[in-house]
Amino acid sequence: MTTTRNDGAPRYRAYTLNNFSSIPQYERLTRAQREAVETVGHVLPFKTNSYVVDQLIDWDKLPDDPMYVLTFPQRDMLRDEHYARMRDALRHGDHSPEVDQAAHEIRLALNPHPAGQMEHNVPEIYGQKLSGMQHKYRETVLFFPSNGQTCHAYCSFCFRWPQFVGDESMKFAMRESELLVAYLREHPEVTDVLFTGGDPMVMSAKNLKIYIEPLLEANLPSLQTIRIGTKSLSYWPYRFTTDKDADDVLDLFRRVTSSGLHLAIMGHFNHPKELTTTAVDEAIGRVLETGAQIRTQSPVMRNINDSGDAWAEMWRRQVSLGLIPYYMFVARDTGAQHYFSVPLVRAWEIYREALKQVSGIARTVRGPSMSTDPGKVQVLGPADVAGEKVLTLNFLQGRNPDWVARPFFARYDETATWLDDLRPAFGEREFFYEPELRQMFEEDKQREEELALA
Ligand SMILES: *Cc1c(COP(=O)(O)O)cnc(C)c1O
Ligand code: SF4
Repeated sequence: MTTTRNDGAPRYRAYTLNNFSSIPQYERLTRAQREAVETVGHVLPFKTNSYVVDQLIDWDKLPDDPMYVLTFPQRDMLRDEHYARMRDALRHGDHSPEVDQAAHEIRLALNPHPAGQMEHNVPEIYGQKLSGMQHKYRETVLFFPSNGQTCHAYCSFCFRWPQFVGDESMKFAMRESELLVAYLREHPEVTDVLFTGGDPMVMSAKNLKIYIEPLLEANLPSLQTIRIGTKSLSYWPYRFTTDKDADDVLDLFRRVTSSGLHLAIMGHFNHPKELTTTAVDEAIGRVLETGAQIRTQSPVMRNINDSGDAWAEMWRRQVSLGLIPYYMFVARDTGAQHYFSVPLVRAWEIYREALKQVSGIARTVRGPSMSTDPGKVQVLGPADVAGEKVLTLNFLQGRNPDWVARPFFARYDETATWLDDLRPAFGEREFFYEPELRQMFEEDKQREEELALA
């Protein structure tokens, strides 16, 4: 039973390590499960909420229920030695320095900043780094509003916690959005701004306006699309229905679309279950009424959605609700990767098994795709070429746009889970893009040094 406000609307209630024993279903967790939440939750981010707990998790299906695995820390998400390390530390007390120290060391061992995302793509203006932005692919700038660096619940596979803290001040938000507009004026090649986080939709309508209105007012001739990456449709659909400022959010969306810009909500859905409630149905309807479109994306993850049937069902539901399937990702090499990872060949099988069950309308999704240093690399699948068994790959996005849509080949490897595990086919020493990528990084480094001296 979801707790409600005085007016009967559902009330958002977050559950974290501090209060998860107060969820109504706590009784249903075994001692071992409670211990796992307590232990793993001190390393991986843990936050769930009243809607997820009451409407998405099927408590009769524990411990394997995918929505439970998605938001509750599981024993096997940490390797044995890390688990034991944290158990020992917890004997000194929850808030002891031993616990902090153990958490810090284990997290470092889990590779919190994968694939050079942070180091290499920070844009600059007036010789100054814009740390809340990333500009990697020519057309699209990612923007991380500092007020949107949390989520309505945390996904257990997500390793973004280094950024799950933010400067809440409005002054800071205004300064950030000014810099964004200034950057876009200087970079007419950018057609898309993608607000991401965390989850930008945790922000109040008032805060969202501070970021979005300047983009409308600036009248930038090159800007075509504002995108918002969000999991709120899944984790808190009331954001668009009964939350106090839900109508203000939708009004803001309407202002974007009526200004002639395309508004694309990049909805994050991991499992068909997230598309089954009345609340999500209503939320989607209200968002679409504003003229926005909703495109969907998710990684493929073991223990959550590693079957063709799960994906086919997800896409079918999405299409019938008016959403556009967009990307299927490969879970990246970070966090509890040993728990979630699916080999590339298996991910491709899942994609194919799902794709062949649905009509062309649902085949708009591209994947499985790895977000790597050189770009978004799609696994097109195995092939036999000139007597060698190979894995065919393809750039969906490239650090150099010219790398896109040029199939290339790796030696076939059924166990590889990431691009780093693959070697070029046909006895070649490196993939075609590698010399140029090295040169790009070299130039980045020189630029860094110049900036440091300036
Ligand atoms: C995925 C991604 C984008 C958006 O790419 P599209 O293919 O246009 O959706 C932009 N920047 C980064 C860093 C990305 O990883
Ligand atoms: S909603 Fe997105 S940013 Fe938030 S925890 Fe999940 S994957 Fe990470």
